[in-house]
Amino acid sequence: MTVYEHMPSVGRKLLLAGRSGLNLTHAEPLSDLLARYGDAEVVQAAVREFDPTALRTWSAGLGETTFIGSSDRVFPHSTRATPLLRAWLARLDALGVRIAVRHRWIGWGAEPTTLRFRRADGSEVETTCDATVFALGGASWPRVGSDGGWVASFRAAGVVVHELRPANCGALIEWTPEFAERCAGQPLKNVALGVAGTWVRGDITITTSGLESGPVYPQTAAIRTSVERTGACTIVVDLQPDLDQSAIHQRLARRRPKESLSTWLRRALSLTPAAIGVLREATGNDVPSDPESLARLVKAVPLLVRGVSPIARAISSAGGIALTEVDEHLMLRRLPGVFAAGEMLDWEAPTGGYLLQASFSTGVAAAHGALARQALGGDAR
Ligand SMILES: Cc1cc2nc3c(=O)[nH]c(=O)nc-3n(C[C@H](O)[C@H](O)[C@H](O)COP(=O)(O)OP(=O)(O)OC[C@H]3O[C@@H](n4cnc5c(N)ncnc54)[C@H](O)[C@@H]3O)c2cc1C
Repeated sequence: MTVYEHMPSVGRKLLLAGRSGLNLTHAEPLSDLLARYGDAEVVQAAVREFDPTALRTWSAGLGETTFIGSSDRVFPHSTRATPLLRAWLARLDALGVRIAVRHRWIGWGAEPTTLRFRRADGSEVETTCDATVFALGGASWPRVGSDGGWVASFRAAGVVVHELRPANCGALIEWTPEFAERCAGQPLKNVALGVAGTWVRGDITITTSGLESGPVYPQTAAIRTSVERTGACTIVVDLQPDLDQSAIHQRLARRRPKESLSTWLRRALSLTPAAIGVLREATGNDVPSDPESLARLVKAVPLLVRGVSPIARAISSAGGIALTEVDEHLMLRRLPGVFAAGEMLDWEAPTGGYLLQASFSTGVAAAHGALARQALGGDAR
């Protein structure tokens, strides 16, 4: 068995994910976890078969026991990906798996059993196999390898591939240059973000081009859909989710004589300069001074989003091979012997360990399918 990889080494996206703490999976009840994958039934079936417990057992078997961290997120004890990847590669080596780096898959030969690769020196090579598991990723962070270059070949073979689009990424807002310069990198702590009636709480990071992280990521799909349909999406930020509007109104009731707006908001509501800046941005620097209107605004600061971050900066990709194109073993119906796993498939999930969980689970499901086929058809290379 051979693993082909076009980069000089394998697992670069996994190593990147490990840099900020490798969130391998999630410890919530399985039914809640499965719901994170929406209506992607074939992905849910794979996750049911190779569930979070199986993934944690696999990791522990490679010397990386796991722990449940904040918000039930599961991490390896080292929190990094390096020890896990190193142990995994050692196991594959011991099993006789060959790893061919600097081999870029560029398409099929005459048959779907023939794979064509381009090597680093530009030369091309062909190989035939009984079964192939494709796990070429989506198109986020292309500098670590997954660049979506496979899409054209799959489409040319008649496979329906939905456009790869950014998921779990930032929302683009046209800040004034002064605000962007002053507040980029600052957090809006413990706020709630509302998109189309769904609220998510957490800490948001202000960037030069909009808002990112925390509650923004799980709302990406809704924002992206609205932008695709209408060209824009109005999101609302609740700067004080622990207080209701009347409590805020009460706190704002007494403004001291000559007190500036900033001092008033800081004293009455402990708003940070960044949060006050957001109020100014949302109103064109015309923040209402009557307590009732101001309280209403603090509970729902409307911000116009014009787009989402480019896919190259997104945590993951939406889109990919339509799930109707694969059978229950993740084999492409049109290409017998060809299996697909991970972000190549059209499913979407929030951050929290769900992305790696589904990538591993679909990888296991596809591998089982390929092994079953190999058992029927002879040697796989
Ligand atoms: C910054 C960041 C942090 C993340 N953190 C987490 C996290 O903590 N938890 C979590 O669950 N998820 C996280 N993710 C997402 C997670 O890393 C991905 O969902 C997962 O790696 C997808 O796995 P995959 O196998 O589908 O694709 P990838 O991991 O992208 O692997 C695809 C591989 O195929 C290779 N390849 C691509 N095209 C070709 C070709 N034509 N020929 C040969 N080889 C090719 C690539 O070089 C790459 O090695 C993070 C992502 C990013 C960007």
